[in-house]
This record gives sequence, C-alpha cells and structure tokens, in this order.
Amino acid sequence: MIAASDAGEDARSLSVKQLQTIRDVREFVGAARTAGRRIGFVPTMGALHEGHFSLIRTARSQSDTAVVSIFVNPTQFGPNEDYQRYPRPIDADLAGCEREGVGAVFCPSVQEMYPTRALTTVALPALTRTLCGPHRPGHFDGVATVVAKLFQIVQPDRAFFGQKDYQQSVIVRRMVADLNMPVEVVVCPTVREADGLAMSSRNAYLSAEDRRQALSLSQALFAARDQVAAGQRDALALVQQIRRHIQSAGPCRIDYAECVDAADLTPQSQITGPCAIAVAVRIGATRLIDNVLVG
Ligand code: AMP
Repeated sequence: MIAASDAGEDARSLSVKQLQTIRDVREFVGAARTAGRRIGFVPTMGALHEGHFSLIRTARSQSDTAVVSIFVNPTQFGPNEDYQRYPRPIDADLAGCEREGVGAVFCPSVQEMYPTRALTTVALPALTRTLCGPHRPGHFDGVATVVAKLFQIVQPDRAFFGQKDYQQSVIVRRMVADLNMPVEVVVCPTVREADGLAMSSRNAYLSAEDRRQALSLSQALFAARDQVAAGQRDALALVQQIRRHIQSAGPCRIDYAECVDAADLTPQSQITGPCAIAVAVRIGATRLIDNVLVG
C-alpha cells in the first residue's frame, strides 16, 4: 500500500473531518441530525482497500452523511494474534476517506474507547460455536462489544458491514435485533481482486508465493458453489473437496472448512436451505477467511 505521505499528503493537509474524541463525534452527529441528515456508518480497522471503499460508497448512496471509524480494537485480538503488527497507514486511509467524500472519520485512541477496564461485555455464545468462534476465543465478544459502543457513540441510522466477515455480520444483525438498537444493518457483497482473492487488509502480509496459494480459497469456494448450483446437496462431500483443493495448493493450516445454516450458523451436513460455506486458512503467518452463500 502506498502511504499518503509518499503521495505528498499527510493528515494535516487533508480537509476530511477527523474526530478523535467521543464528544466531538456526538457534536458532529448531533449537528448533522439537527440539519435533517441521515447518518451512514462504516466501522473499520483501517488499512482501507476497495472492500471498505465499496461499503463507504453504499453508505453514501443510502444516507446523507457517511461516518467511518478507524480503530484497531485490541479486545478482539487474541494474545498470539497480530494486534501489534496490524497495518496502520492512517494518512493513506484519511486521504481515501477524503477522496470518497466521507463526512467525518472517527479515529479514537485505545484510551478514549477503553478509559477503564469495562465490566460490560456483549456476547452471543450461540453464534460463536462454529466457524471462527472456536479458533478465536473471545474475538466475537470483542467485536460485538466494540460495535455496540460505536453504535452508541455514532448513533447511525444505517451501518454497513461486509459479507467477507460473514459470521460477524450475522452476530451484529442479531445483537441489533436482540437489544433493539435503532440502527439498520446493511450487509454488502465481498469485493475481490480480479483473480477472485477476497480483499483484506491482511493480504498485505502475503509474499508472492503466499499470494498464489491464497487464490485456492476463493477457487475452492467457487467450485463448491458451482456444484451446489448443479444439484450437489452433500455438504460434507463439498467440504472435503474444498479441503483437498486448498491443501493441494501448498503447505497451509486449515482452521476450518464448514457449511453452516446462513441464519443461525449451525453446522449442516445437507444443503436444504440457505447456507454459508466458509473457510479459514493459515498460509505462513497470515490467517485468511472467505465464504460463499449457497442454497
Ligand atoms: P475490517 O477493517 O477488516 O474490520 O473491516 C471493516 C468492514 O469492512 C467489515 O464490515 C468487513 O466485513 C468489511 N470488509 C473487509 N473486507 C471486505 C471485502 N473484501 N469486501 C467487502 N467488505 C469487506
């Protein structure tokens, strides 16, 4: 990724509104609301790519003011995960937000978001028993809690999430429904590179060889989707083929390849209704996820 400073831009020369405090966000959003503007919110961890920009464009098209948050949330990273090395090209991200016509970017410090050790957590254990849940203990509690906090801070009319993180999107929708949060959750399609690789901030970690190998995820998932379209209903057979396909691309560790009910994420052995087929694979030190919806 090209740093904005390389392009002669830095945070100070940009005119996009940057908000560091919760108080400033409340003031900005309050003024927008008073002016009758509907707020579209896109929460991110930064290192913005076309996947994020597609959410921002949809937010702009479905609301009057787009607010983007950029916060690498420590509570959703496990102790051996990549919190420290997660890419943080803030100047390039702000330049991207400016280019996309974002109304304001909320980039809080960890101290601003977590001034004291919080005693409240939002958890949806029934939705974390499959897919990434068992492999990333506590991750979705961190996600649900920070999204709930961000919703309280920004109070958006609509919030935009990517299908790329399918389990996250199901969890956020359910949290909003269960807790009567006055926000409409919009899930947008996964944006891919021309060859099919799902865009991800973590793709920046991949070597050329890793990148070649990473293509096997989308290829295997697309092949499975084609088979379902052709009448295959045996989810276990599909998952076996996906595993073989990914393993044949080179050395890797498959955290999971699973077919789950699209609504409640329970494991399925037969495809009898809407399902998500999802994979998480470690290639070198990089963990990649991808999914397709079938049935
Ligand atoms: P992240 O910065 O990875 O936390 O992602 C922020 C939002 O962007 C989440 O709702 C993601 O699902 C979404 N997102 C990330 N990658 C993609 C992609 N390739 N296509 C669509 N949405 C994405």
